[in-house]
Amino acid sequence: MAERKNPASKVTTANSNTRLTTGPSPRRGVSRADAGMPRPANSNTRVGAGLAVRAPRRDPEPGGAMLRGEATSEAALAGLRGRMAALLAQQGIQDDEVLRVMAEVPRHRFIDEALASRAYENAALPIGAGQTISQPWIVARMLAVAREGGALHRVLEVGTGCGYQAALLARLAGQVVSVERIRSLHEQAVDRLRTLGVRNAKLVLGDGNAGWPAGGPYDAILVAAAGLHIPPALLGQLAVGGRLLAPEGGSQQRLVLIERSSRERFRRTELEFVRFVPLQTGVQL
Ligand code: SAH
Repeated sequence: MAERKNPASKVTTANSNTRLTTGPSPRRGVSRADAGMPRPANSNTRVGAGLAVRAPRRDPEPGGAMLRGEATSEAALAGLRGRMAALLAQQGIQDDEVLRVMAEVPRHRFIDEALASRAYENAALPIGAGQTISQPWIVARMLAVAREGGALHRVLEVGTGCGYQAALLARLAGQVVSVERIRSLHEQAVDRLRTLGVRNAKLVLGDGNAGWPAGGPYDAILVAAAGLHIPPALLGQLAVGGRLLAPEGGSQQRLVLIERSSRERFRRTELEFVRFVPLQTGVQL
């Protein structure tokens, strides 16, 4: 039976995330206390028709700080990545391991080269097929909450997308299974993870509503697309003591944490308001 905890302390403001250029812009000198204040928590709003993301063309940064070549060299990108991790810490991500892997995994390798200079903004960015890579903050948040449940031996991700979160998970967990329903995204993610030398992530083309029973039970299940309800098959594949994180809802979504305390008991906690692409059914070949 599901229990509800008072989520008030965790509630943050909804954010339509219809801009590609800016996320919650972290301010310098934000204290830990401030960092716990309501903040937008958005992830991977669909880019394209419907919830159209209008990306105003950005002019070059004043002073030419983002000169082409400068901003996209590996060294410059590594610098931006380190700064992104530092800002995530200021924004309330306290898990050092999560911050470490966020500072390590090259997010720019998971998106189009033309967007590389924007890879370390706290923004959802297009990855093709009408999908987006989730915002770094929400990725870090989900990883940190998953890890609060203890060691991650086996983890399932629903919604591989470009494979970024799977690459992070592979550094934090023993074995990762990640399911994607769109063939083109799945195949690109397979290539990327191979190129990056990730060996402990199995990428599956399939409908994640069914999970992947062969790899379970899982210590954590992370769902990167929002359904109206959490797919029951996923609950069945969660290990006792395990944690499932999923956005739930339609036009208004909430990140939901499910902790399995025994075979029959699941505890439900509602976290931030978020905005993810929809969880769909079937496989798109
Ligand atoms: N984890 C990704 C997020 C990608 S966006 C990242 O690191 O950025 C969410 C992804 O979920 C999309 O690629 C979408 O195609 C996929 N998705 C939606 N419904 C799904 C389903 N039923 N099974 C598997 N993947 C699904």
